[in-house]
Amino acid sequence: MVFLARQEPFVCEHCGSAVAPLEKGSYRNHCPRCLWSKHVDDIGPGDRASLCGGLMEPVHLDYDGKKGWMVLHRCTVCGKTIPNKTAPDDDMTALSKE
Ligand SMILES: [Zn+2]
Ligand SMILES: [Zn+2]
Repeated sequence: MVFLARQEPFVCEHCGSAVAPLEKGSYRNHCPRCLWSKHVDDIGPGDRASLCGGLMEPVHLDYDGKKGWMVLHRCTVCGKTIPNKTAPDDDMTALSKE
């Protein structure tokens, strides 16, 4: 069996941007323009185990010595918070633009 990572373009449900997948195997799960995400993971990034499907708002940026900048997402439907790694092309200023 061959494992294929899910790297598909998607349209952001918050700002409507067309989002292209990252190269070199990086996993993108949020919009680089507005940083909003979608609640599809339950325990860890990429497990796709959640049935919630709510939009996740970026609420906080945090610097981790090992992983770099992390964005904390909070689900607007169920309130769950999940930390995610930022991508190189993320707009880090999107949080303060509100
Ligand atoms: Zn967006
Ligand atoms: Zn949720």
